[in-house]
Amino acid sequence: MGDTLHLMRSLATEGIALKELDRAAESYIRSKGGRPTFKGYHGFPASLCLSLNHEVVHGIPNGRKLKKGDILSIDCGCTLDGWVGDAAITVAVEPISVELSKLIAITSESLAAGIAAARVGQRLGDIGAAIEGAVNPHRYGIVREYCGHGVGKELHEDPQVPNYGAAGSGPRIQSGWCLALEPMVNLGGDAVHTLADGWTVVTSDGKHSAHCEHSIAITDTGTEILTLCSDGSQP
Ligand code: MG
Ligand code: MG
Repeated sequence: MGDTLHLMRSLATEGIALKELDRAAESYIRSKGGRPTFKGYHGFPASLCLSLNHEVVHGIPNGRKLKKGDILSIDCGCTLDGWVGDAAITVAVEPISVELSKLIAITSESLAAGIAAARVGQRLGDIGAAIEGAVNPHRYGIVREYCGHGVGKELHEDPQVPNYGAAGSGPRIQSGWCLALEPMVNLGGDAVHTLADGWTVVTSDGKHSAHCEHSIAITDTGTEILTLCSDGSQP
């Protein structure tokens, strides 16, 4: 899973079409014996969700080509041996502005904060509070309509995991839970809407958005990130 995203990061350079990235991801996943989970999910037509600049999530790979200054959310689902992994990174087509570099960095930090809060005995609201705590000092908008989720045999399982919340609220986190945490952070306001294609979610103010995601397993002995690269590095 992480290796697929790592490959996508290396391919996401100026001039490549989003469709080409999608094709490369699908062939890589299949070469490893996996299946691209998103393809056909509620009719989604591709293996990756590719969301460019002011697109937030669920963008459909098409013929658009990456340009310098773009940022791209690459969200990938893979099913292997009946288990689903779900992860996303936001990559930059350098050079990008300082403002966008910071947006990506803070989004990634907020995911790390959420993962650190996802411990047996904590409460679900602690995860959202940790994500919010990492984002709010920077006055970005945290998308509220979409959230993290349980992940396992299915792509989307209970519980829903909001990217905001009050510390100490919600059910206690149990050993054995697998969650996909995925903050979506906007340079402007938190409002989003879906385009006429029925999939692509965009910021309502047209400002850029970043998204990153890991699937994690929470156990009594600690929390493991399931969607790192096979060498243990971040994709
Ligand atoms: Mg995802
Ligand atoms: Mg997800």
